[in-house]
Amino acid sequence: MPEAAPRGRVVLITGAAGGFGRAAAARFAATGATLALSDREEGPLKALCARLEGQGAQVLAVPGDVAEADAAAAMHDRVLARFGRLDVAINNAGVVHAPGPIEHLPVEEFDRVMAVNARGVFLGLQRQIPAMAAGGGGVILNVASAAGLVGAGGLAGYAASKHAVVGLTRAAADEGASRGVRVNAICPSFAQTPMLDALTGAGSGVEDPEGKARQARLTARVPMGRVATAEEVAAAMLWLCSEENSFMTGQAIALDGGLTAI
Ligand code: NAD
Repeated sequence: MPEAAPRGRVVLITGAAGGFGRAAAARFAATGATLALSDREEGPLKALCARLEGQGAQVLAVPGDVAEADAAAAMHDRVLARFGRLDVAINNAGVVHAPGPIEHLPVEEFDRVMAVNARGVFLGLQRQIPAMAAGGGGVILNVASAAGLVGAGGLAGYAASKHAVVGLTRAAADEGASRGVRVNAICPSFAQTPMLDALTGAGSGVEDPEGKARQARLTARVPMGRVATAEEVAAAMLWLCSEENSFMTGQAIALDGGLTAI
């Protein structure tokens, strides 16, 4: 028996303490959803959960590393024990490596990025599909990237991991379709979050002309001439996971200011 009856849809978000995760948590909380928020950074995760609870949301913190099989299993078990079902899962936790050509990318970095971005999504899907199917259906949104749709020179390990996320999404959608589980991926290009700040070095708080120049070069590649906000990505996540979007599955949706299309 579940420990607490959920108030709205039960929504699990991984990487919840980061840029997209926080914005998505706030957005789903505003719809009255019951939240299960996960991140490997326990302190920031607990602070976020306390803040959302203070605003009236029903929130469970499930800290853990998505790339570790036991931790991923325990995280899902805790959500099901507490709420009795899982309606929406956003597999958002991810990491990037320092930019550079393939010959300079350390194999350990390649493995680290693949473990979090690809194996982490795989481990989530292993638990989420049967849990949702048992509850009559659900929606999974994997956070890939524009680098999961096109080559991203200088980010080969990241691009490989995000192409893997798109492949996992399509396979999971095929397996989930007859069981009431829709699975899609969202593919942002660049959005202003701590990850982008780390990639460009622009958000360190220290005056960094090189970081600013890197950010300007990256922005110039986007036809719309700017990067997204985390809130824009969260708004798309909310709609992609909504009942209104009831016939879409197996898709990798670019949210990229035109980067992969124009
Ligand atoms: P972020 O760095 O702000 O947040 C990522 C969060 O994931 C962090 O809170 C981090 O602690 C958590 N995390 C990392 N590894 C983890 C692990 N092994 N287990 C559990 N939690 C872990 O990054 P963001 O920009 O919010 O990115 C979210 C997702 O969006 C990532 O998958 C990223 O690859 C993807 N993405 C980001 C951009 C962008 O421009 N910001 C563009 C395309 C795709």
